Amino acid sequence: MGLIDSIFPPLVAGLIRSIPLSPRRPRDLLRCNGTHHGKYYVKTGYHLFRESHDRAYASCSGMDIKPPSYWNAIWSAKGAPRCRDMIWRACKGVLPVKYVLSARGIVQDTICPVCGMAEESISHAIMHCSEAMAVWFASPLAVRVPNQDHQQFSYWFVELISKCDDEWASSLLCSIAWAIWLRRNRKVFNDYLLSVDQTLQVALSMGLAIDSVNNVNDGEAVPVTWQRSSQGIIKINFDAAYSTERGAGYGMVARDNDGLLLAAATYYVGPTLDAMMAEAACMRWSMNLCKDHGFQSLVLETDCLLLHQAWSAKSVPHSYVGVLLEDCRLLASSFSILSMCHVKRQCNQVADFMSKLAYSMQDNVWIEDGPPGLNTILSADLCIPSVMSAGLFYMTSATFK
Ligand SMILES: [Zn+2]
Repeated sequence: MGLIDSIFPPLVAGLIRSIPLSPRRPRDLLRCNGTHHGKYYVKTGYHLFRESHDRAYASCSGMDIKPPSYWNAIWSAKGAPRCRDMIWRACKGVLPVKYVLSARGIVQDTICPVCGMAEESISHAIMHCSEAMAVWFASPLAVRVPNQDHQQFSYWFVELISKCDDEWASSLLCSIAWAIWLRRNRKVFNDYLLSVDQTLQVALSMGLAIDSVNNVNDGEAVPVTWQRSSQGIIKINFDAAYSTERGAGYGMVARDNDGLLLAAATYYVGPTLDAMMAEAACMRWSMNLCKDHGFQSLVLETDCLLLHQAWSAKSVPHSYVGVLLEDCRLLASSFSILSMCHVKRQCNQVADFMSKLAYSMQDNVWIEDGPPGLNTILSADLCIPSVMSAGLFYMTSATFK
């Protein structure tokens, strides 16, 4: 490591260190980064150029979002219509918070009814209120609200939505904003404050209801919830969080066939070449953890379709990912039963949560009792249908209307 730092400038040294090393010491090969197969085509160069151009443009354009793309971002988000309508009203500045009502002479008191600590502007109610921040952070997306009080909800939310890499996350962001508003209304009209967990269950239930509708394909519904494993099989959900700025974080959760938590873990790796490599390295890390804990019969679940396809393919990709998958195949012989499934993102929420937690809790293993926030998602995996049938979902939805 010292030798690399002494020869190369810091940026290059960081990139070199992010190349995954294999304990098998395979022979050195030239590989093209930026593709999962490791081969270079003209379109590869084109895509790499576009990515770096877009990044450069995004970093210099800052918050100067043009109105058409701004509103498009909201209307193209994958939330339920009622959630998008509420967000649209918040961004338009017409959501009836106390500050808006007092400007129209309807009320005099402008103090936030939830925390009682500040004026209830739209940005405060959905974003800066300490109670709202707790919900955002405890969610499977672990959203951190920036501390600047002057930052408006509209710009912050549009930026969040624009960065979303899939429909599930986009729909959940809308559901969380809506559930926070619904929680505020319950406090105002029913004098009852839903807990953070209850608010998140409402948000998750709303996302699930939307997915149930969206996933009916040719009359056949695709499962949209996490499923328990068969008797004696341990289910491993794993996921890698990745961003060019913060690098990669790994998350893993192991549950028995009753859905009870056996182990959960986080690991922060820092700079990583791309998201696919982070996913493959996360799989190897998860398998090593399972081996260390003596788990023998496993089913691994990933929401990364490319990784699943690469694992299922007979040929090994000529890439860093290929090296990592070869390590995984070798590790597979350590287990008596091992299979790998691709699941929808919403069935892998626990691992998604843990991977993002890796940015703050960098190298941790929890046995039988997970970190704060994980229990909410574990419970939701086991009982989302019962939450909905218990009436919480419908009762609170009715209050909103
Ligand atoms: Zn407040």
